Amino acid sequence: MIRQLDEAAINRIAAGEVVERPASAIKELVENALDAGANRIEIAYADGGKTLMRVTDDGCGIPPDQLPLALARHATSKIDGSDLLNIHSFGFRGEALPSLGAVARLTITSRAPGHEAGEIAVSGGQVGAVRPAALTSGTIVTLRDLFYATPARLKFMRSDRAEAQAITDIVKRLAMAAPFVGFTLRDVSGGGEGRVTFRAEAETGDLLDALYGRLAHILGTEFAGNALRLAATRDGLTLTGYAALPTYSRGAAIAQYLFVNGRPVRDRMLHGALRAAYQDVLARDRHPAAALFIDCDPTLVDVNVHPAKSEVRFRDPGVARGLIVSGLRHALAEAGHRASTTVAG
Ligand code: ADP
Ligand code: MG
Repeated sequence: MIRQLDEAAINRIAAGEVVERPASAIKELVENALDAGANRIEIAYADGGKTLMRVTDDGCGIPPDQLPLALARHATSKIDGSDLLNIHSFGFRGEALPSLGAVARLTITSRAPGHEAGEIAVSGGQVGAVRPAALTSGTIVTLRDLFYATPARLKFMRSDRAEAQAITDIVKRLAMAAPFVGFTLRDVSGGGEGRVTFRAEAETGDLLDALYGRLAHILGTEFAGNALRLAATRDGLTLTGYAALPTYSRGAAIAQYLFVNGRPVRDRMLHGALRAAYQDVLARDRHPAAALFIDCDPTLVDVNVHPAKSEVRFRDPGVARGLIVSGLRHALAEAGHRASTTVAG
């Protein structure tokens, strides 16, 4: 017999795709805060995010009557469905909050300008009523007991330390993608010890200057001191960002940050291109450090490949690869040239 699954079951299945671990929940919540135009985002977690994750922003907020929709499947304020090729926000599927609400205890407290503050809670897919709340502006999303409703998933989480590491990594990536936004990341386990702050970069300079400041903060002044500024274009794609001189290489591919249209991605082809660009100047066991931003018309790249959206598909992968390889080689050659003339002079 063929049966239509109910909403709760559908959400739990979707959650399996969207939410792999605490860091993927943090990614969804921080992306929502960025989409809401936040200038300041605070992230708190306890026990590697397993017991508690909370993201607070000063973005546009959600009016109380819209709160149930925020938790409804395929409900989004970001696209109207007529143009799936032109996506400029992080989110567009309307899947994250209902999925998280299906596998954790989720509360949204929010206030939009001109509205009262409201709060809604969902637990294991059971959505409660909207209640009045006290909040001056923005949104607080609190997630407790991730995967409590799906014990099989619970077992697949790694140690608190490993999950905390993954949270820190994704927050760093998102902070690089938004240098004008201030971020605070706090581990509040057992009384609150660790705290990292990336203060908002001044909006006086251009984006690449702001990015430089943020990279210096996140990757360290040694990276910044060895970083080459990139700017290249090819067939409608642009490459910007910073790549370190070969002397600042690493023993593992840990300091490689790739972004496509402002989205952090992990993409084999792009990582391969980065590697290829350094092939002649780095030993086999060394890895380049770089933060590369590829931007193009949204119609030239499909970000729709996977719900967690960390993979992308270029209409012409050869162009993206060629841009990275030639853009980096050019910058490296120029730096080499400058270095040798300095020595000669
Ligand atoms: P998507 O981001 O794909 O639209 P989500 O399930 O992540 O789907 O969120 C559903 C909707 O809830 C969003 O479209 C947005 O309107 C609203 N929302 C979620 N988080 C926030 C936030 N931090 N601030 C303002 N609105 C939010
Ligand atoms: Mg979202």
